[in-house]
Amino acid sequence: MTNPVTKPSKRALVVTGPGSVSLEERPPALAPPGEVVVSPSVVGLCGTDLEIIDGRIDPAYVRYPLVLGHEWCGVLDGPDAKQLVVAEGVVACGHCERCRQGRTNLCETYDEVGFTRDGALADEVVVPRRVIHLLDQAVDRSAATLVEPMAVVFQGLDRARPKPGWRVLVIGDGTVGLLSALLVRLYSPSVVDLVGARSAQEDLALEAGADSFCTPEKAPRGDYDLVVEAAGSSRAAGMALDSARRGGAVLLLGLPPHGEKTPVAVDDVVNRDLAVHASFSYTSSSFAEVAGLLSTGAVEPSFLVTHRLALEEWPAALEALRQPVGARGKVVIEL
Ligand SMILES: [Zn+2]
Ligand SMILES: [Zn+2]
Repeated sequence: MTNPVTKPSKRALVVTGPGSVSLEERPPALAPPGEVVVSPSVVGLCGTDLEIIDGRIDPAYVRYPLVLGHEWCGVLDGPDAKQLVVAEGVVACGHCERCRQGRTNLCETYDEVGFTRDGALADEVVVPRRVIHLLDQAVDRSAATLVEPMAVVFQGLDRARPKPGWRVLVIGDGTVGLLSALLVRLYSPSVVDLVGARSAQEDLALEAGADSFCTPEKAPRGDYDLVVEAAGSSRAAGMALDSARRGGAVLLLGLPPHGEKTPVAVDDVVNRDLAVHASFSYTSSSFAEVAGLLSTGAVEPSFLVTHRLALEEWPAALEALRQPVGARGKVVIEL
């Protein structure tokens, strides 16, 4: 007598709709032509995941039900061995006008892993082969989950083009703010100050490359060449506009809740000749550059990972994100 061969089911953390998350069992994935099944190793969580869970994100950029997880690295069975890989979350079509200009972040067909297609908080994730980037095997897997948010920061900095000697202010002490302090160092600024809401973040900010840390009440104003808004609040965006010098630049990276408005003294922005850059996601080339920076050891961000949990501990991981206690960098789930 032979036993029927039953393939083990696969776990996936699913948001069925706003306010509803659960760990589900699913049959093993099948990849359509041109796509591959990757086994996620480490998956980072971020504030955007909470916005997806809470339904606070612009409905044009999310499709429920959805497996969470857009910051991740995984293992792909290669021809000779298992390969450590990361994958662009933005799945661009590759042939529309914007894609042909290299602006794949603005592809006319918006499709993103963990937003409109299933993400990596699962035993398996299916992605097109063309968005996969191989990493050096020596790269720390926790650090590899930071390629995605680093690509967001890298893309924004590439727009603002900081010059050597610039005075830089970063507003925001979450991962994007801390990664901004880390990556802007590649442009040789004379000073990088960071404003954060929680003084428990000071040590992480200094380790990331900030020269000083202060809370918003004590924030210096008005003489920065570049101000990076990475707090994701409209108030912080207003503060960023106030903090740049005349002729300076402001880079908006944070994503406030959908539709939130803030008063802006437009005459002041004009009179002060500010360059205001807003940056959405990242292009294929930014993602590739960041994967390269990590593979060559030019950046080493693994110190930013402060919380490591198992997939079954997902409620605690979300709680660490919602109600930070003490120093909190990136919260990751290890599979
Ligand atoms: Zn994120
Ligand atoms: Zn396209």
